[in-house]
Amino acid sequence: MEFALVIILPMFLLMAGSGILVVSQVSSFLQSSSLNQRQRFANMVIQQYMIQIAMAQSQLYQRSRQLEALSNKLALSNQELAGLNEMKSKFLSMVVHDVRTPLASIRGFSEMLIKKVPGEREAAYLRNIVSSTDQLGRLIADLTDLAMIEAGKLKMEKAVFDSAELARDILPALSINAQKKGVELAAGELTDGFPINGDKFRLSQVLMNLLNNAIKFTPVGRRVELTMRREGRGIGVYVKDSGIGIHPSETKKIFEKFYQAKYQKDEKLRKQGWGLGLSIATEIIRSHKGEIGATSPGLGKGSTFYFKVPADC
Ligand code: ADP
Repeated sequence: MEFALVIILPMFLLMAGSGILVVSQVSSFLQSSSLNQRQRFANMVIQQYMIQIAMAQSQLYQRSRQLEALSNKLALSNQELAGLNEMKSKFLSMVVHDVRTPLASIRGFSEMLIKKVPGEREAAYLRNIVSSTDQLGRLIADLTDLAMIEAGKLKMEKAVFDSAELARDILPALSINAQKKGVELAAGELTDGFPINGDKFRLSQVLMNLLNNAIKFTPVGRRVELTMRREGRGIGVYVKDSGIGIHPSETKKIFEKFYQAKYQKDEKLRKQGWGLGLSIATEIIRSHKGEIGATSPGLGKGSTFYFKVPADC
């Protein structure tokens, strides 16, 4: 028994200890080899990403060079376009200037001859010449304004004036036009005594355009009404007619250069204009920090054109 305790027990303990040692060595070897594998895999993935990033960078570089070349080309074409635009504006103002003088003399001599010719027929021909020269004169005035707008030279000469004068100065002549056509032109509320700091000539031009259009697009026997109101720190001017109206899809488009409403079928009316007046009016109102627009319940139901400008524009 004592022999067993002294010899066998230590031997048994020795063997058990060395067994545990071997097992722990083997397991740590296995663990470290799996860690290495994972590390290698992670490195590989990182390397692949780095290659992709390098490729993307070189593509980016190529694209940015292409973009640079394109923007250089664009700058060149912009310069060319600006040059051509200036040439066009100069040409337009030259033509306009050279046409104006002979036109004035054609009109003057025709008016003189109306009183001298013996027959009514000849007088009618001459009146026709006068009204055609008037029409050409209006086109030339519009083209001059357009050339100035495009050259950025349409300057507003602002001064303080009574806003009601805008209407008072032009109503007498327009009433005669309306009467001739058989349309009633009524002036409602005006803004007496309310001062505006703006270009009176240009703002009158806008109002005249709106009223002339209203008379033109309103059939005989119907009515056009002008109202001016104080609104906040400025005025609102409204021209309401009971004319041919505007299709909802065109109430904005008609303010574009050379645009004439397509849903309006009257060719004769269309030929009396060039679709320039409202685009010039838009520019003038923009220069006064104001707003211009039109509303209409629909074709055949009349329309209201308006503009609003601040008192100190
Ligand atoms: P123009 O009258 O010389 O053609 P405008 O720029 O003044 O040019 O007007 C553009 C278009 O807007 C007109 O051709 C017409 O189709 C439409 N329009 C303008 N005023 C009216 C109105 N009071 N009623 C209906 N349509 C209008």
